[in-house]
Amino acid sequence: MTVAHTSPNQMAHAVNRAGAILTVDLTAIAENWKTIAARVAPAECAAVVKANAYGLGIDHVAPALWQAGARTFFVAHLQEAITLRALLPEAVIYVLNGLLPGSAFEFSAHDLRPVLGSLPEIGEWSAQCRATGLDQPAALHVDTGMHRLGLSLEEAAHIAQERAALRFTPSLVMSHLACADTPGHKLTPLQQERFAQVAQQFSGIRASLANSAGTQLDARYHFDLVRPGILLYGGRAIDETMPLHPVVRLNAPVIQVRTAAAGETVGYGASERLKRDSRLAVVHIGYADGLFRAAGSSDARKGAQVVLDGTLCPLVGRISMDLATVDITDLPEDAVARGMTAEFLGASIGVDDLAEKAGTISYEVLTSLGGRYQRRYLGD
Ligand SMILES: *Cc1c(COP(=O)(O)O)cnc(C)c1O
Repeated sequence: MTVAHTSPNQMAHAVNRAGAILTVDLTAIAENWKTIAARVAPAECAAVVKANAYGLGIDHVAPALWQAGARTFFVAHLQEAITLRALLPEAVIYVLNGLLPGSAFEFSAHDLRPVLGSLPEIGEWSAQCRATGLDQPAALHVDTGMHRLGLSLEEAAHIAQERAALRFTPSLVMSHLACADTPGHKLTPLQQERFAQVAQQFSGIRASLANSAGTQLDARYHFDLVRPGILLYGGRAIDETMPLHPVVRLNAPVIQVRTAAAGETVGYGASERLKRDSRLAVVHIGYADGLFRAAGSSDARKGAQVVLDGTLCPLVGRISMDLATVDITDLPEDAVARGMTAEFLGASIGVDDLAEKAGTISYEVLTSLGGRYQRRYLGD
């Protein structure tokens, strides 16, 4: 359920019912898109909204991006594309994972563009266009070093030479960077060089190489169109001078405040032994909500932090399925009361901060956000 405008009272009420509230700031997403678009102009800035807009809700996020000015969208699956088509009748929609056998007619019927990454896919799309008599555009994906999807460089060169034999006009030739978020990685310039040659072979067709991290590299990486995802949703930029906004806030209520004596242990496995008499707040959120169990703490390792009463406090012990425990010993005695909300993501804890504590990446934090949250959209 979505609550568009909530008073603090209503919000407290909703928190009590749902356990935790995920707030998604659509205005921040729109602003982030505009910032990237300005950075890469005159290249076009598309938007990647696969996996339900990185877990944030494609039915809210995609219209907000359209309003901001985005016209080209990328999803991973055909089903995601059909959902998106209903939301955005006029958008250009590419499907990154391409054609599965027998699915070409559905792409055609919904005016979707497959990203073709193999010769059999190109054959199927050609056959589809022959059958309908329509020249329906598709993208060609060329592998420049990631070895995931895409035509080999040799296959691409061959297709480029035989372009006239295709039954469709490719609308985009693209590749994907494997290491653009690792500054100085030597694969990145190598991929750029290889892709520049591919783009030349397909002259007259628009070219696209950059994901979010690629938008932050110099203009040689931008070509005609860039495909940011994570930066739109509050992932940390490698260029930290770029003013991007946090997008998600995750709040969960305190169920109990309790004490435990020095030497006692907290949580499953008794993995953490208290070094001092402690006050603990038990919070209504757990790994079933996407709060990774690996973000818990043990004697050996510091876990994630949460904001309570305006202060960063550490998690203590393991994270359970539906509960997490916070050490509030350093806060004033009555600072935390039952029903108060703790913040797990927000202005002072970014998705990358939480990801680091769990030994993962911001992408996985976002796409793992649970289905139990009350979702609230700002700027809808
Ligand atoms: C997911 C994806 C993107 C977006 O990547 P970010 O790192 O989130 O910007 C771009 N291109 C392709 C091919 C992708 O799979």
